[in-house]
Amino acid sequence: MVFPDNHKLKGKPKGIKQVLTECNIWPEKGIRLMCEQCSGKQDDIVSERLDCCARRIMSLQPDFCEQRSILKEAIIKAGHIFERYPKFHCECNFIERYWGFAKRETRRLCNYNYNDLLLKVPEVLISVPVTTIHKFACKSWRYMDAYNKGLEGRTAEWAVSKYKSHHRLPDNIERIMDDLDNT
Ligand SMILES: [Zn+2]
Repeated sequence: MVFPDNHKLKGKPKGIKQVLTECNIWPEKGIRLMCEQCSGKQDDIVSERLDCCARRIMSLQPDFCEQRSILKEAIIKAGHIFERYPKFHCECNFIERYWGFAKRETRRLCNYNYNDLLLKVPEVLISVPVTTIHKFACKSWRYMDAYNKGLEGRTAEWAVSKYKSHHRLPDNIERIMDDLDNT
């Protein structure tokens, strides 16, 4: 992705046109660098676009798709698991409940000045019992289980509140929901 040492621009990053030309996929008639949809200025309705602009062509190249982000590389290198949750579904991530719990506790305990916050936030984060965090994790699991069983929105919420016993909802949950619909 950078010019080689024998090039007058050595060490400088290559532009998209240069990269695509070297891969023989730069269109002969030329192409704009980025289209309205890819720039996010328009609603991205057509996600099937293959060659709307140079940026799109580049982003679809296999080696480009396989490249891990710096964040992902750093996390994996440190021996952790890199996992992404679905966007806009904080209920699937127990850390959100832990964080919310810690915020409520901090609000209750702090005397509303910055220096006190610097002390209280770490104290409160450590003070949340592991059993409580475990319960948050169980709740997130139940949401994931509900979604896996095809439930959505309010129905999923209802099912999660109903079945408090374990990680999983009962396997016959779809039938139970159908019965409810028919009553
Ligand atoms: Zn585009």
